[in-house]
Amino acid sequence: MMCVMRLLLLTMIFLSLSCPVYADSPDRQEPALQRQEIEVTLKPAEHLLLGVSTVTFAAGTQRAFLKLSPTAHIESVTAPGTKLPFSFSDGTLSLNIPKASGQEAVPITVTYRALFNDPLPQHSGSSEDPTYGVNGAITTQGTFLGGAAGWYPVPPTVPLKRSVQVFAPAGTEALTAGRRVKRSTKGSVTSSLWEEEHPVGTLTLCAGPYRIEERREAGVDLYSYFYPDNASLSSRYLDAAARYLRFYSDLFGPYPFEKFAVVENFFPTGYGFSSFTLLGSAIIRLPFIIDTSFPHEIAHSWWGNAIEVDQSEGNWAEGLATYLADYLLKERRSTAEGREYRVQLLSDFATLVTAAADFPLVAFSSRVDPASRSIGYGKSAMVFHMVRTEIGDRAFFGALREIYRERRYRAATWGDFTRAFSRSSGRDLSAFMQQWLTRPGGPRVVLSNVTHRHEGEGQGEGQRDGRGWTVSGSVVQSPPFYELQVPLRLESDGAAIRKILPLTGAETPFTFSTPTEPQQLLLDPDAELFRVLAPGEIPVTVNSIKGSKQLLAVITEDCRAGDATFKRFLESLGKSGTTVIREDKLDEERLRTHDLIFCGIPKQRSLLPPLPSGISLRSTGFTINEDVVPAPDGLLFLVLPFPAPSVRIAALFLPLSETAAEQYAAKITHYGKYGSLVFTGGAIRHKGTIPHL
Ligand SMILES: [Zn+2]
Repeated sequence: MMCVMRLLLLTMIFLSLSCPVYADSPDRQEPALQRQEIEVTLKPAEHLLLGVSTVTFAAGTQRAFLKLSPTAHIESVTAPGTKLPFSFSDGTLSLNIPKASGQEAVPITVTYRALFNDPLPQHSGSSEDPTYGVNGAITTQGTFLGGAAGWYPVPPTVPLKRSVQVFAPAGTEALTAGRRVKRSTKGSVTSSLWEEEHPVGTLTLCAGPYRIEERREAGVDLYSYFYPDNASLSSRYLDAAARYLRFYSDLFGPYPFEKFAVVENFFPTGYGFSSFTLLGSAIIRLPFIIDTSFPHEIAHSWWGNAIEVDQSEGNWAEGLATYLADYLLKERRSTAEGREYRVQLLSDFATLVTAAADFPLVAFSSRVDPASRSIGYGKSAMVFHMVRTEIGDRAFFGALREIYRERRYRAATWGDFTRAFSRSSGRDLSAFMQQWLTRPGGPRVVLSNVTHRHEGEGQGEGQRDGRGWTVSGSVVQSPPFYELQVPLRLESDGAAIRKILPLTGAETPFTFSTPTEPQQLLLDPDAELFRVLAPGEIPVTVNSIKGSKQLLAVITEDCRAGDATFKRFLESLGKSGTTVIREDKLDEERLRTHDLIFCGIPKQRSLLPPLPSGISLRSTGFTINEDVVPAPDGLLFLVLPFPAPSVRIAALFLPLSETAAEQYAAKITHYGKYGSLVFTGGAIRHKGTIPHL
């Protein structure tokens, strides 16, 4: 089965995909397929593929079913020396396999032609449809043939060996899974041959006028297949690929495929496949991709590609790739970055997952919207984090190495992870995992009845020397109850005291003794637990505006964006239905009941919540952290909380010219987790989070 893995997404960017409809999952009754050879000729000007594929069935196979594009025309099906009768309907080719003498395997050759011309997405918007609706397109710009397109006859099980030979017009280079055995251009034809030692899933084929760069690193061929415009980025990507392959090989075991390639896609999306990653042209140029989506896709080589997802218990691969790439790389840079990322995952869940959109992890298959991303990527990553905190690095990474050793080129379930974590830690973790995998939502925990008492004021309980303070209270959770290890931190004039409080029911009391005067008591201060944050714990961000239930857009006299541009900006935030009014038409009632988004600085400055320190606004531009951004090329976007007890928020959209608005507005939606953004000089210059006041 194929796993087309999605590229990051983390609110930053559009990439994506997921595990689409698979070819039938392996049926253990079926005799092994020995091999498959696929030979295709691409005719981009006609969107046409001419194909010949030979599938060698094990001796004893009586009937064959092969999936092929429903619009394909099958020219012949043959066994050696004979033409075979067949039926072909709804994309399934069925035939009886002739009896071979003795134990011989039977090669069946299918000759076919098919057109692939799916419409391509025109804009690099933030589509939440991970496939962009494209399964197969053969065009003069480029070719993409996904596993679900049926560009070759897909047998019900993955063969033990597989090869693909591609012929295309001279200069059109093709790439698919496996080792590149040869490549040449002769006359008007460029061809290449690819062979897989350990085939997994269905095959994807890409082709285009690529410039190829290559090197070899620790026995793995590294390639970049980029269009000429981006060819200069090749060495950066190959350097990064080599670095990440080394990092993950050390953590989990050797890289599972013959090569790793980074390939440019000609329409704006990104996929990860066995042995290569496909990135849209605009995405390749984004500077942060090399440290975000790219390692995420490389982590999928182990988790999702070499070990596929057995969907029967839900898709674990997105959470694990998120944890091992997007998260772990931050944690390795600094403890603070790791913590910030976890807070982010919890904030996303609290703001994006409504009760109606919620579901348990066992029901996650692929991302379809921000809520399912927050569950299948974010919550899932937090589950891996809690396991790691619970059993320690040695047992956690030891279990991953064991799963990789034992299940490589096969599929795995959440259950396989639970068992491996239990084995490596010597503890039965099934009940622990069960609560995270089978329940929607998460625990809601709060501190209750916290009091402190100086020794002199009371009975001095717990104080041996008759001095010091006692802090007591309880942690309360609402049903359904979770088994939790809740970290508490008591900060005082001296060193902070940390306590892990095991929780099982509604209310769990605790007591701290401290020799110095207590300052504050914090519950889960480092966001170690997956839990549903209370509103006051959530930083306000672009996502808060996207999730606002009552948003009012206000155009001030200072607004330098045209009405149409501002409207498109609201649409990009998923807020196309928002009422837009001029500042002079604002009334008190609306002010009290709505979140606000201002285009330009309101005349009445008190309509905006207080600005965070480091940001100041002027008529000629704005200043952030002492950097002055003058008009016309700049845009500031802020999301600010009104002071408590209000729970309302306001956003300031401040382009310094219509040109700046046009250039930058559509990018804002991709920075969902940030509360302050600055664009200037054609790029993002600052992104940050503004804490809730
Ligand atoms: Zn992924």
